[in-house]
Amino acid sequence: MKIVDCLILGAGAAGLFCAARTAARGRSTIVLDHARKPAEKIRISGGGRCNFTNLYTNPQNFISNNPHFAKSALARYTPYDFCDLMSTHGLSWTEKILGQLFCDQKSGAIINMLLQELSDAGGALTLNTDIIDVQSNAGKFIVSTSEGQIETTSLVIATGGLSIPKMGATGLAYEIARQFGHTIIDTRPALVPFTFSGQDKDDFAAISGVSLDVRCQAAKGPDFRENLLFTHRGLSGPAMLQISSYWHLSETVRIDLFPDHATRDWLLEKREDTPTQTLQQALSEHLPNRMVPLICRSFENLVQRKLAELSNSHLDDIVETLKAWTLKPAGTEGWRTAEVTAGGICTGGLSSKTMESRHQSGLYFIGECVDVTGWLGGYNFQWAWASAAAAGAHA
Ligand SMILES: Cc1cc2nc3c(=O)[nH]c(=O)nc-3n(C[C@H](O)[C@H](O)[C@H](O)COP(=O)(O)OP(=O)(O)OC[C@H]3O[C@@H](n4cnc5c(N)ncnc54)[C@H](O)[C@@H]3O)c2cc1C
Repeated sequence: MKIVDCLILGAGAAGLFCAARTAARGRSTIVLDHARKPAEKIRISGGGRCNFTNLYTNPQNFISNNPHFAKSALARYTPYDFCDLMSTHGLSWTEKILGQLFCDQKSGAIINMLLQELSDAGGALTLNTDIIDVQSNAGKFIVSTSEGQIETTSLVIATGGLSIPKMGATGLAYEIARQFGHTIIDTRPALVPFTFSGQDKDDFAAISGVSLDVRCQAAKGPDFRENLLFTHRGLSGPAMLQISSYWHLSETVRIDLFPDHATRDWLLEKREDTPTQTLQQALSEHLPNRMVPLICRSFENLVQRKLAELSNSHLDDIVETLKAWTLKPAGTEGWRTAEVTAGGICTGGLSSKTMESRHQSGLYFIGECVDVTGWLGGYNFQWAWASAAAAGAHA
């Protein structure tokens, strides 16, 4: 049986980063994964350039049953700390929008950096290894794997959430958490496109590829100002991904299609200045032409009328639709395409300072498996780094 000070399950963003830090403290460390390659989600992230953090990271950018939990770890390991690490490895980055930092080199450069940190610190990585069972006895853990047993005093669970099973996602973290008496907050796919059925699906498919800048909101949660994209299955784009994290089945979503406009004033002015223009022509100045009939479904008979023929009450109906287009998604694309998992291991059972279990000393949970879900825009990797740094200083 192998014996190590610290065994980390999951060689993703959180697991690799944590392993480098425990090893750097002189703890003999192994990080284990069932996949053939480490950190595959880093590789595919950010369109291959990994949106590795967000400059404006703030606890409000995370969803959790306890919105205060992430504060401590996020404050102690910031986006600037990760940028410093990148710099020491000669990596550079570009801020795209909204504080989102992307690696100028390919995502693989970040994986190589994490592997370099791990090997420089003397830690070991073991891939292609299935985890069969975890037992604890007298302050020690025995982990049975397809390659034999490993004994450790610190066991860090970093096996992520349920998103994209094809890439190796499993519910192992939740199984281990339950085994040690933790509560799991219901999990659901997040940062995921919406699907629609019936007429909506057909109409959206007909204009798939069309995108526009909107402000949108789920029944609960903040509003987001980003791009919406029509797809063959429904609605996607950053705007929809953001609100999907707050959405629950059978709820509606609300979309402001004219986010920059005092729309009623604009329509009144148009009616005054260009009375012979049709409603279709007027709306096409701000909306993709093919989208106008779709938006105007509830007042179809008005679309080809001249603006002069529209009453104030017509304008009110039109404005209401443009400012609060309300839709009911049939569902989401689910775990197959979700970028992250909302819900997870209840933070009440963990120390916010060290990520150690309150039920079992020496056991830690970090990264996506914890009930902390970031917005789109680099926040999820920042949580992976910050929670890993918290555990890496103690495990
Ligand atoms: C397409 C896509 C794009 C994304 N882009 C971004 C982005 O640009 N910016 C951002 O901040 N976030 C992004 N994310 C989210 C980000 O990838 C995750 O938040 C992050 O990877 C979570 O890190 P983690 O280490 O907790 O889990 P993971 O990275 O999922 O790592 C978990 C590891 O555990 C292993 N594992 C799982 N089950 C087992 C088991 N039973 N036995 C052994 N090993 C196991 C897996 O193989 C994996 O290597 C993206 C996600 C996806 C899917």
